[in-house]
Amino acid sequence: MKKTTGTDRSITSKWRPATQAVRGGTWRSEHGETSEALFLSSGYTYDDAQTVADRFAGEAQGMTYSRLQNPTVAMLEERIALMEGAEACRAQASGMAAMTTALLCQLSAGDHVVGARAAFGSCRWLLDHLCPRFGIEVSVIDSTDNAAWEAAIRPNTKVFFFETPANPTLDVVDLKFVCDLARAHGITTVVDNAFATSALQRPLDFGADVVAYSATKLMDGQGRVLAGAVCGTEQFINEVLLPFQRNTGPNLSPFNAWVVLKGLETLDLRARRQSENALEVGRFVESRAPRIMHPGLPSHPRHEMALKQMAMTGPIFAFDVETREKAFALLDALELVDISNNIGDARSLLCHPASTTHANMGEDARLEMGIGQGMLRINVGLEDPLDVIEDLAQAFDRAGL
Ligand SMILES: *Cc1c(COP(=O)(O)O)cnc(C)c1O
Repeated sequence: MKKTTGTDRSITSKWRPATQAVRGGTWRSEHGETSEALFLSSGYTYDDAQTVADRFAGEAQGMTYSRLQNPTVAMLEERIALMEGAEACRAQASGMAAMTTALLCQLSAGDHVVGARAAFGSCRWLLDHLCPRFGIEVSVIDSTDNAAWEAAIRPNTKVFFFETPANPTLDVVDLKFVCDLARAHGITTVVDNAFATSALQRPLDFGADVVAYSATKLMDGQGRVLAGAVCGTEQFINEVLLPFQRNTGPNLSPFNAWVVLKGLETLDLRARRQSENALEVGRFVESRAPRIMHPGLPSHPRHEMALKQMAMTGPIFAFDVETREKAFALLDALELVDISNNIGDARSLLCHPASTTHANMGEDARLEMGIGQGMLRINVGLEDPLDVIEDLAQAFDRAGL
């Protein structure tokens, strides 16, 4: 296996992120294939016994077993690390496998985590239900309140865990402030960057320690496979995360890694066009819905901060139509946009978080998070935004809004 331009990372690491998304981490076999090869192999063979002994001893490079490393998955990991500006990356089978791995690999009974209140439903489940079962203390705070982060710190605080923008309220966290605060207290920040990806926001540039992904979303970008990834320093990935991952096995399949590699080639294009489309659709929705949560619009409480942290504000926003009946009527009237709880897809998708992605958490926790029964979350795709606007306009009309 050969890398694109030799193995010289001093050359490849100079490429800008959009170049990395197309070429970063490419290894070529002796056939010189243009597109990345798909290695559907769980095991590997060796010319002699000493070779395999050396690999297991860590004294020689090379594959041994696909739970430990697989060439196609390794290409994806290297590409994501290069795009993110991270020293290292490991891929997992889903975004939730990535979040679970990023937290449990470094936390023990007696440690304390501070987490954002506004978060993806399963991310909140990790904090509210899983961590406490293993004796890990958790505080959940309003992540848009800088003083709340500071006030939540205890002597045993080990991790800050948050999304920005958050799912589905689009809360924006002050990355620089929260990462600086964590660093000053020896706390590790774990940022779930699924709503932005490195094409729109690079948390490491603001001092984050670990960036974790659902690659199912914008990275695949075409709604095909589940995938996840965790990026950080070589020390964190190799010494803290890898022992956990290699022995518990939340691995990404080579096939899914290959699909995401293909998705990354168009990430920069898609993320930018979908951000533009979401702004256009957002301006229309703002004219019809009583309330909109869109970090790209001046009505968002942290609009200025979002523009400082993000190249563009992404394909996803939320809005409120006051009641569940009106929200369902609007969904049921759609002719182009699909009713779907996925995001990051090239298709425009609309969902009702209170009855889907955040159905399990209970009405009180939902209301505290700002998710009412009238809230809808949209992923704006790559269609002509005028068609999406026309569809929403007729759906608003038919829903009596
Ligand atoms: C979807 C999502 C996840 C979970 O990812 P899966 O790939 O579905 O497991 C985690 N965090 C955020 C912000 C998400 O949107």
